[in-house]
Amino acid sequence: SRVRVMELEESPNVTFAQIGGLKEEIEEVREAVEYPLTRPEIFEKVGVEPPKGILLYGPPGTGKTLIAKAVANQAKATFIRMSGSELVHKFIGEGAQMVRELFSLAREKSPSIVFIDEIDSIGSMRTQDGTSGSAEVQRTLMQLLAEMDGFDNRGNVRLMAATNRVDMLDPALLRPGRFDRILEVSLPDEKSRLEILKIHSAKLNMKDVEINSLLKITENATGAEIQAICREAGMNAVRNNSDYVTMKNFTDAVFKVRRKTRSEDIMY
Ligand code: ATP
Repeated sequence: SRVRVMELEESPNVTFAQIGGLKEEIEEVREAVEYPLTRPEIFEKVGVEPPKGILLYGPPGTGKTLIAKAVANQAKATFIRMSGSELVHKFIGEGAQMVRELFSLAREKSPSIVFIDEIDSIGSMRTQDGTSGSAEVQRTLMQLLAEMDGFDNRGNVRLMAATNRVDMLDPALLRPGRFDRILEVSLPDEKSRLEILKIHSAKLNMKDVEINSLLKITENATGAEIQAICREAGMNAVRNNSDYVTMKNFTDAVFKVRRKTRSEDIMY
């Protein structure tokens, strides 16, 4: 069951070409995470310490995990993902131990990139849900801070984290020498949505589909929603026994996908 909370990929198969938009964000992550692994001599020559950890924040489904995986691929590094919320909800009493194991695994598998998703679950100022008891969560956070402090930024383990709630984070996590680089990953603008639409519709056999109309009806959609819309549009064509995807298939898909995410927001 430990496999679930820590997911390990030798060198993820995500490439930068599969990411729409986010050009500046990708460059920032490469500077903080990839170049210290692949070209450490540059940092040495210039005499600058690379950042210790980079925190990505923004709405769910905007590509934070995707960037982390693409950078791991580019650096030929092992990608180790740990979910903060699974850690807190499924490993009650074992959180601190799991954090220790995470860092020891990262050193063993280096060069590696550790990606802690939903870090707010371990690093919140207040724990709203009484599920695990805040003392346990506090111990887990303390272990994480200790691991970060005893960690060489010039080493070949790089640290990333993601959250949807940066405002909730314990400031201790954001101090210099911890997650000292913070990067916003926001909803895609029109140009980025166009790129994302092209990526996720590349294999669809489409007829009379106007990409500009798709752009209009996907306003405020995340990358994950655009991917779901493209898949659902394809499924609509399959249901109609058609060989190709129409504009109507897309509008129906948008309606279904957006309604679904909206109701999830309400449940939240
Ligand atoms: P969460 O906070 O929920 O973990 P996230 O920001 O990490 O979200 P991802 O897991 O990276 O989101 O995105 C989910 C999926 O949505 C990706 O696997 C990809 O298919 C699609 N996607 C998201 N953003 C983009 C993008 N910018 N370009 C292409 N696809 C995207």
